[in-house]
Amino acid sequence: MNRYDYLIAGGGVIGCSIAYRLAKSGLSVAVFDAGSAGTASRAAGGMLGAQNEFEFENPLMDIAIESRAMFAGLQEELLEESGIDIELRQAGLLKVAASENDLPALLEQYGFLNGKDASVQWLEPHEVPLAEPCMSDKTAGAIYLEKDTQVKAPLLAKAFLLSAVNAGVHVYEQTPVQQLVVENGQVCGAKTSIGTIQANRVINAAGAWSGDLFKETGFTPPVIPVKGECISIKLNGEAPLKTVFAVDGCYIVPKRNKEMLIGATSYPNSFDTSVTAGGIRSLLNRAAHLLPVLNEGTIERTWSGIRPQARDQLPVIGAHPFVSGLYLCTGHYRNGILLSPATGLLMERFLTGCPETAKRLAPFSPARFLTQKEEATV
Ligand SMILES: Cc1cc2nc3c(=O)[nH]c(=O)nc-3n(C[C@H](O)[C@H](O)[C@H](O)COP(=O)(O)OP(=O)(O)OC[C@H]3O[C@@H](n4cnc5c(N)ncnc54)[C@H](O)[C@@H]3O)c2cc1C
Repeated sequence: MNRYDYLIAGGGVIGCSIAYRLAKSGLSVAVFDAGSAGTASRAAGGMLGAQNEFEFENPLMDIAIESRAMFAGLQEELLEESGIDIELRQAGLLKVAASENDLPALLEQYGFLNGKDASVQWLEPHEVPLAEPCMSDKTAGAIYLEKDTQVKAPLLAKAFLLSAVNAGVHVYEQTPVQQLVVENGQVCGAKTSIGTIQANRVINAAGAWSGDLFKETGFTPPVIPVKGECISIKLNGEAPLKTVFAVDGCYIVPKRNKEMLIGATSYPNSFDTSVTAGGIRSLLNRAAHLLPVLNEGTIERTWSGIRPQARDQLPVIGAHPFVSGLYLCTGHYRNGILLSPATGLLMERFLTGCPETAKRLAPFSPARFLTQKEEATV
């Protein structure tokens, strides 16, 4: 290929979802990943917590709900395109107050969510084990979110990647993008470890690394890495079906074959990928308090991943303020799996000039981080 329409830096769920949609609309696309595609994406719990994640009005919530609804169709589409089943499970989510201290915050969230959707239910402590028989009756109450579902994140990442390849995208793994090539304020490609690649447009979808990429452009999105550790436990006997999410952020996501994915710790500003004994001990203590049956399980594996978090915890999606043809799509923080289908579609529409989509994406524009002095120069 002499010149691509799009070069995407980053082959996680975000980069590959965009690449897939662009290729499907007939554009030529190359994805470069510094390592194996999808660093955070392969580590994620896979929760599609479009209600669980919101406690008050947020410009992202409508997109999150729309994205969650896309998964039923996406499961079939990706199966057809890639042969991979993303293991969508629709058993709902219990958001739990582990103790009385967590109750006020949870009741407030319940008021907010139930005001928008009457299917959101409040469960008293004795009702919690009725909804999920493996749950302890020693909680202080829970919200039942029947519409919050889950997928197996590594399978979703692989399915997006393979579907993109099958749609004609060229994927280069272990090939970092090193520097942007700009002429007269316009992108014309990027330098990579295999040489300079020509492209009409470039998208920075490098997740937690996106803040450092293209520093030379004079604008770096304030995206930091947030390390998270996880452990999976295999149960043999009785096993829960619903996802359980504690107010303190510890969660248990039941996968197929009674595999319980327990996450996740949170260490801001850390690219360290080690898994600490203290982190895993804390997860196990909190998880077994909610689901005592976990004590009977066997440990399968532990791992960690790096979430991309913007300063205001919203994604950063849109045009670079100073360089024509350069775009950012990053900062999906704890919800990149959930948001990946909608992000791919919205980016494709935005890049092909849809004015309504540009309006919807305005709250996530990179320009919101410009200083007054920088704004004056745009
Ligand atoms: C422990 C954990 C649990 C999570 N649980 C959930 C969950 O339950 N639900 C949910 O919705 N989200 C969850 N998330 C968040 C979700 O995983 C992320 O928001 C999402 O994966 C971000 O996708 P991405 O494509 O932006 O980043 P990544 O998947 O990290 O992909 C970015 C890619 O860019 C590459 N890269 C870096 N530098 C360069 C370069 N110079 N050139 C080329 N490529 C480069 C990296 O190698 C990487 O593969 C979780 C995250 C973690 C860590």
